[in-house]
Amino acid sequence: MAVIKGQAYGHGLIEVARALDSENLPFFGVANAAEARLLHEADIKTTPYLLGATLPSEREEIAARKWTPCLCSIDEISHFNSLGSQKMHPIKAHLALDTGMGRGGFLPEQLGSALEKLKNSPGIQLTGVGSHLPVADEDPTFTTTQYQLFDDLIASIPRPTNTPFHIHLANSAGLLNFKSQTTNLTRPGLMLYGASPIPDKQPLLRPAMTLKSQISVINHLPKGHGVSYGRTILSRDTKAAVLGIGYGDGYPRALSKQNTQVLIHNTPCPVIGRVTMDQLIVDITDLKHDCHPGDEAILFGKNLLVTDLAQKANTIPWEILTQLTPRVTRIYC
Ligand SMILES: *Cc1c(COP(=O)(O)O)cnc(C)c1O
Repeated sequence: MAVIKGQAYGHGLIEVARALDSENLPFFGVANAAEARLLHEADIKTTPYLLGATLPSEREEIAARKWTPCLCSIDEISHFNSLGSQKMHPIKAHLALDTGMGRGGFLPEQLGSALEKLKNSPGIQLTGVGSHLPVADEDPTFTTTQYQLFDDLIASIPRPTNTPFHIHLANSAGLLNFKSQTTNLTRPGLMLYGASPIPDKQPLLRPAMTLKSQISVINHLPKGHGVSYGRTILSRDTKAAVLGIGYGDGYPRALSKQNTQVLIHNTPCPVIGRVTMDQLIVDITDLKHDCHPGDEAILFGKNLLVTDLAQKANTIPWEILTQLTPRVTRIYC
């Protein structure tokens, strides 16, 4: 399952869906009915899979368009059962198990009653079961126990023989770090886009996105002059390049004064002063290369990892990627 929620982690929902639509994947993982509808309207063939509990108001459309929900509560089972019964075709759905995430799904001790309820729900055809990993990139002991628990729980779930039955647990970190005895499907998100949740595994991946801007103006500022809001005072005469990008594009303001760098002519240059909404300022005093307005600056990409930026901004790469705004023109190669 390719996870393409959140505008495909900021890369562009429809473009990524089109790129992957011919790969014969069973599912595209999306957050909600609105994202699934965008895929539908773009004529994407791969089935949307709703990664979380659905809202009551979304279920009619999910049933009508044959998207796959994961059943997180008895309430959802009842509702989808009645929708499936009305529509005269059972709704294909997966069962969500909570093996530690605490965000939806049946606890191990509730599995029996969920299965009992499903047995009496002819409007639903169970075509899979999944669970989610809260600490696959942080706590191997807990995650190993979780895999064991999941494998054990799966044994008690009846499987149809006439249709594929999908069993899934791993996100990117799970896929990179763990092995399961039972699963036949994984749900990578972040790693699809070439960012690894586990630093050691980054060499296996190639970032899909490069965030670029350009120099608009180069200013020669004297020692003691201030730079940007809040007036960061220069401690030397400085050649300062202004880039046409800021937090209004999704470049985090939290990267101000964190020894953040950008690449200009392949050379790291420090961001100085506060990141503003539309512009930021870079110290190019030590840059050997001649610089001119229009020259390209790389904010992150292959040689400047979004994961490292995230750490400096005290956040995670998922957040930086999904918060890139529509003002950033996406160019696809
Ligand atoms: C977002 C999400 C994923 C993908 O997670 P990554 O860490 O980006 O690989 C997988 N499963 C579920 C249920 C999710 O919500």
